[in-house]
Amino acid sequence: MKCIAVVMAMASEASPILTQLGAQAIPAIPLLPFEFFEANRNGCRVIISVNGRDRRHGVDSIGTEAAALNTYFVADRYNPDLLITAGTAGGWMHQGAEIGDVFVSDQKFVHHDRRIAIPGLDEYGIGSYPAVPAAGLARALNLKLGVVTTSNSLDENDDDRRLIAANGGSVKEMEAAAVAYVCEMMAIPVMALKAITDLVDHHTATADQFNANLTMASRRLAEKLLQVIDFCAPRMVADLA
Ligand code: SAH
Repeated sequence: MKCIAVVMAMASEASPILTQLGAQAIPAIPLLPFEFFEANRNGCRVIISVNGRDRRHGVDSIGTEAAALNTYFVADRYNPDLLITAGTAGGWMHQGAEIGDVFVSDQKFVHHDRRIAIPGLDEYGIGSYPAVPAAGLARALNLKLGVVTTSNSLDENDDDRRLIAANGGSVKEMEAAAVAYVCEMMAIPVMALKAITDLVDHHTATADQFNANLTMASRRLAEKLLQVIDFCAPRMVADLA
């Protein structure tokens, strides 16, 4: 691969990998909050694009809108061989997930908060954008595999729970399906790498778990992301299956 792009939502998720790659800031897009960084890893160009700060609210631009727009710019500007949506996520105890586990996307990316009970539009709402087959990569790097499911809420309600179960979701976050939607349109292979900050079926509130584990999970994410980049760089996308 000549170029791998990584799209990330939060500054604290991105900080450890930027340091480890020795990534340099590169020009941003006027008016937009996205922050671009570049590194070279064994001859492969690595672009890291972070969603940046929301100007009105002064917080990280998490969620699907910023993720989709950021992905579009990265895809259009750098035409990467592979795009990785990297960050943190919730997992489920009853599926064996543990805090700090790092998951690779399996099969498809889905939405669990777009309920449209009209034939045809119901499936459009769920999305089901393809994830690059990466079972070989997961096996080689000892990563778990799971279907990534996206909504714009940190917690989940009963409708979310039903839809997540119906779609076989096991990695819950707020950006990946939007990233995969753009990548499918632009014919760019997409993979998620997500470190577990919280257990959805634990009695502790998700936000409290998230805040307690964000630093550790971001460190784990960086460690695995580096291994994923080093695994992918000398290979072709088809070699990840
Ligand atoms: N308290 C944070 C908000 C983080 S929102 C702040 O102050 O900015 C959660 C972020 O982590 C999102 O980008 C999302 O992709 C990811 N995330 C982690 N666990 C999640 C979960 N259980 N459900 C949804 N998103 C989760």
